[in-house]
Amino acid sequence: MNASIKLGTIWGIPIGLHISWFLIFGLISWSLAVGYFPNEYPQLSGTTNWALGVITSLLFFGSVLAHELGHSFIALRNKIPVKGITLFIFGGVAQIGQEPKSPGAEFRIAVAGPIVSLGLAGLFGGLWLLDQTVPFLAAPSLYLARINLILAIFNMIPGFPLDGGRVLRALVWRWTNSFRRATQVASFSGQIVAFGFIGFGVFGMLSGNFMNGLWLVFIGWFLQNAAASAYAQLNVTETLRGVTVGQAMTRECAEIPGLTPLSQLVEERILTGGQRCFVVTDQDHLRGILTLRDISAIPQQKWRFTTAEQAMMPSNRLASVNPNTDLLEALQLMDNSNIAQVPVLVDDRLVGMLSREQILRYLRLRSELGV
Ligand SMILES: [Zn+2]
Repeated sequence: MNASIKLGTIWGIPIGLHISWFLIFGLISWSLAVGYFPNEYPQLSGTTNWALGVITSLLFFGSVLAHELGHSFIALRNKIPVKGITLFIFGGVAQIGQEPKSPGAEFRIAVAGPIVSLGLAGLFGGLWLLDQTVPFLAAPSLYLARINLILAIFNMIPGFPLDGGRVLRALVWRWTNSFRRATQVASFSGQIVAFGFIGFGVFGMLSGNFMNGLWLVFIGWFLQNAAASAYAQLNVTETLRGVTVGQAMTRECAEIPGLTPLSQLVEERILTGGQRCFVVTDQDHLRGILTLRDISAIPQQKWRFTTAEQAMMPSNRLASVNPNTDLLEALQLMDNSNIAQVPVLVDDRLVGMLSREQILRYLRLRSELGV
């Protein structure tokens, strides 16, 4: 989730606001200030209703944050890192760093959020019951009790990535002992739920409830994307499990002397030979690697006077892997250091190169062969 504003950290978890959040915050404050509160308190001034609207809206998003903190608290207790919590247009999301290791952990993390929301619904409901006559307390409490109850119920709809979908995944995982099967079931039900939302939304739009219908369509579209990408992610993870770097790397990275001018490389090996990566070696020892990205970073008129050595990424600044490294681990390394390829070394000797493209090609080959 990019483009977010950092608010601070709780339990070491960075809390952020995505820019799309301001839109929903504005919409909810506005609908409370010009609809709900004037209806409940016609005697109050417009300014007071706006103040109530903004405060209630902030408490609503405080409740959403508490829901996400509920998930995060249990994740941390199960030694699963939480990368961050972001509030955005569709509510909140806690980015849990890795898949839970057992169905029990998955179940507890999933239900923690809705339990917090239920608790908040009870708390605000209690406030409302106690003080039904206090004008500034009753209507906001009732609204917050309702919205937290809706949050708890909505999130328990059994479609991944909603909490209910995670509960479903935990149950299927426990029954079948297969994480793969469980994710398939949960993401399939997630897609059905998502298309259900879209269908209801379109129906609403056609039958005169345009804005609410449109909103449901957007939520459905968002859920559909999330369910589909969870499934794609699973496929990649499952296919790459147990595969090592040595199986996917290429040995065809051309070795070149450090003094080769870039213009010669471009003319003789890239444009005509189709090569994309070069290693600069010195008696089999890696000195650096040179990729199309490094070359294109240098203005074309300087290619004649720039050597491979000058343009390359020197080996001491390169991350490296060895042929026995897990392919998934190598992919994670490339993701974390934002690089497209990584040299494969054995005792400081270059044996191959691994690029994202190669991993993709490997996945495509496997899927074409159906293995
Ligand atoms: Zn949740």
